[in-house]
Amino acid sequence: MNLKPEIAACFDELQDMRRHLHTCPEIGLDTVETVAFVKEKLDGFGIGYEDIGVNSLLAKVEGRGPGRIVAFRGDMDGLEISEATGLPYRSERAGRMHACGHDGHTTTLLAFARYLADHRDFDGTVLLLFQSGEEGFGGALKIIEDGLFEKYAIDCMFGLHNWPGYAADQIVVHPGPSMASEDRFDLTIRGKSGHASVPHLCVEPFAAVADFIKGAQTVIPRKVSAHDKAVISITQVHGGSAYNIIPDEVVLRGNVRTTDGGVQDLIEESLGRLAEGVAAMYGVQTSFDYHRKHPVLANSMPEPAVRAAARVVGKENVLTHELPAMGSEDFAFYMQHTRGCFVWVGNGADSPVIHNSKYDFNDQVILVGASFFAELLDEVMQRS
Ligand SMILES: [Zn+2]
Ligand SMILES: [Zn+2]
Repeated sequence: MNLKPEIAACFDELQDMRRHLHTCPEIGLDTVETVAFVKEKLDGFGIGYEDIGVNSLLAKVEGRGPGRIVAFRGDMDGLEISEATGLPYRSERAGRMHACGHDGHTTTLLAFARYLADHRDFDGTVLLLFQSGEEGFGGALKIIEDGLFEKYAIDCMFGLHNWPGYAADQIVVHPGPSMASEDRFDLTIRGKSGHASVPHLCVEPFAAVADFIKGAQTVIPRKVSAHDKAVISITQVHGGSAYNIIPDEVVLRGNVRTTDGGVQDLIEESLGRLAEGVAAMYGVQTSFDYHRKHPVLANSMPEPAVRAAARVVGKENVLTHELPAMGSEDFAFYMQHTRGCFVWVGNGADSPVIHNSKYDFNDQVILVGASFFAELLDEVMQRS
């Protein structure tokens, strides 16, 4: 391991910061205290910043002269999970937990900020984006809507996520898609209610529900190429109130993931056609609403990330042939506006998975992640 010595020397202080953040997780866009903590640290490092989006923060480190604008992003929000780790620095907020390691990502970006404060010998500007609301709250979109890419002609942007299942000295760089898109759909099936003993006098909705669910199972094996990756899950069915009443209406909801934009189109179209098909077959009315929540996260600049990672953890510990995850990540929105790369840093081979009440961030990732960002900056920015 070849950590930046200046970063590694601050380990105790960085660990204290991360563990403090772990005690006070905030949810969604409501990262008020976390932002205040980050501002206090940046003030201490002598780094300026501006508010952006909703409770997000953009710190700015100017180099020695004009040059590229390179951005790095760390997310800050926790999850509504009750922590069960029993750790001395466990969450002090009931029902809230940093179960995705964003406390660690925030600290990693602070570690990098501190390093940059003393290493401004580059041409250009580094932006450090501390982001709220990654966990499905549209935090990245709020920042983009607030004009991030209008205010700054960002040349490229990078981010990381800790990843349980890989050792803390391993970095995964996908040379294409690394995280899936996420779409959500609502299907309302309307019939005509009546007594359960006389379905022929009603317009019974459940046969249509059953056929839609069955039909949805055939979309991936029959419509999507065997070489592409996609998941369709029906996650909610709501309808009915009594043993002997056929209800008017049943609502179905579901979730779609894929690593290919074309497959996303195909699935949306196929599910829509299925909804129309069951309406025609059973005489029910259907309204189908398909909304795209997160785009596919595809890395357009894997090469500098691979080289930078190799300098930190050694070539043999940079994995470039791993399967993408079918979870989604709102870093994908930035990649619709600029180029860049999002990597996974191992959180430990035995680490509990993220979004789990026993999960904890591995503080070693702060050193690996911040050293990786520092090396990455050397790759993409000219040193003066
Ligand atoms: Zn998460
Ligand atoms: Zn996360």
